[in-house]
Amino acid sequence: MCVFCKIVNNEIPAYKLYEDEDFLAFFDISQATLGHTLVIPKKHFSDLLEADSETNSKILPVVKTVTNILKSKLNLEDFNVISNFGKRAGQTVFHYHIHIIPRYDHDDFEINFRPNPLTKAEFEDMMNKIKN
Ligand code: 5GP
Ligand code: ZN
Repeated sequence: MCVFCKIVNNEIPAYKLYEDEDFLAFFDISQATLGHTLVIPKKHFSDLLEADSETNSKILPVVKTVTNILKSKLNLEDFNVISNFGKRAGQTVFHYHIHIIPRYDHDDFEINFRPNPLTKAEFEDMMNKIKN
């Protein structure tokens, strides 16, 4: 059983902020920034692509609820909401989860969208693949 399923089953402890029939939110053990929280479906899916449509349609309102809890109770304002899936994307726990990462002035969390300009031909090549 995966580590998040164990948290769902109360086999290992977690600081839970929110729970309903289908979802659970708890503090990430690593706290990338203070208040770093994970939202997971209780049912095991490896990631967004594996999760069923019902789970995917329900999870974002839960993320909103939990973000509002962090906002009102911890007085936070800015957040990154991200989901890593696949090893190359940094996924280490293969139970679908969405990170809510509060942002602070001068924190050291970094998402770096480096500029990577493409030529017109390269954009058009991708567009052709998508359309075909
Ligand atoms: P990923 O890297 O897969 O996107 O995120 C997995 C996250 O789960 C990591 O940020 C890691 O700190 C967190 N994590 C791993 N094991 C545990 C655990 O046992 N308890 C809690 N609360 N978080 C965990
Ligand atoms: Zn699991």
